[in-house]
Amino acid sequence: MAIDPNFDVNREQVGEENGLDVWGPVDPPKKLGIRGTHVAVDYDICVGDGACLEDCPVDVFSWVDTPDHPASEKKVEPTREDQCIDCMLCVDICPVDAIDVDASRE
Ligand code: SF4
Repeated sequence: MAIDPNFDVNREQVGEENGLDVWGPVDPPKKLGIRGTHVAVDYDICVGDGACLEDCPVDVFSWVDTPDHPASEKKVEPTREDQCIDCMLCVDICPVDAIDVDASRE
């Protein structure tokens, strides 16, 4: 299942973490929701592949540890989403379609 591109309508913003919006539902450690808004990563889909982090031309992503999450024990956080140039490389490269980028979402 891919990230919902309409998550900002279909989900509730439940807080912030490291300066990023958190979109619920969240029930750690098993259910972590979506992080980010312009560059959004669904932590419940992310398998920690890391191709996005390695290939992003402007270094948007950082690793975060997510122990005991069923999909993977680390995730890519869109820490510097404000730097994104909308190249869509991360969206195309993600093996599980966990990332959505939309410049109209801020
Ligand atoms: S769309 Fe491009 S610039 Fe933006 S986070 Fe993804 S890889 Fe980086």
